[in-house]
Amino acid sequence: MSDNLQNCSVCGEILTDYGNKELKDGILCRNCVKLASEWLSDEDYKKRTVKDIKKHLKYREANLVNLDSFKVSRKIEGKYSLYIDDDNKLFVVSKRKDLKKDNADVISLDDIVEMSVYEKKYQDKDTVDVYFDIKLNNKELNEVLFRVNEFNGLSVDSDEYKQASELAINYLDELMKDQDFQEEV
Ligand SMILES: [Zn+2]
Repeated sequence: MSDNLQNCSVCGEILTDYGNKELKDGILCRNCVKLASEWLSDEDYKKRTVKDIKKHLKYREANLVNLDSFKVSRKIEGKYSLYIDDDNKLFVVSKRKDLKKDNADVISLDDIVEMSVYEKKYQDKDTVDVYFDIKLNNKELNEVLFRVNEFNGLSVDSDEYKQASELAINYLDELMKDQDFQEEV
């Protein structure tokens, strides 16, 4: 490993053994990762340059301020809760009730390109996880993707599975309300 890979490319701190993310032209330390959006995948990091991530972290600072004017008009609670601000046509998905503590990304409803609910089956097992995916046309975020069920590996005849599936459809319905989406079957 060369010397310039020992420090975070953004803040300069010495890297620890885990929690770092590989960037296109550098490495991001886990403290900087914590400041970035939770919706960035490893692939998203790999595609971004140090300059991109610096811009992203500025966006995250602005997001914290934007949360002050986010007004919840509708809420669907789950492991991840969905919050919708109808007046400003915005939404937030967060694991925490304290959206500012989470610095949950405030996203325009107009940025939604496509939404889907899908299941991932465990290999050699009769259990599944339910996922909700929102594809975005947004400068900083490509998608919001999360597992709906709290505990992984649900049996398809369990109540938890039924609840998770219903919750996912509920997210979909609420996000589509008053929007011009084509519903995908
Ligand atoms: Zn850093």
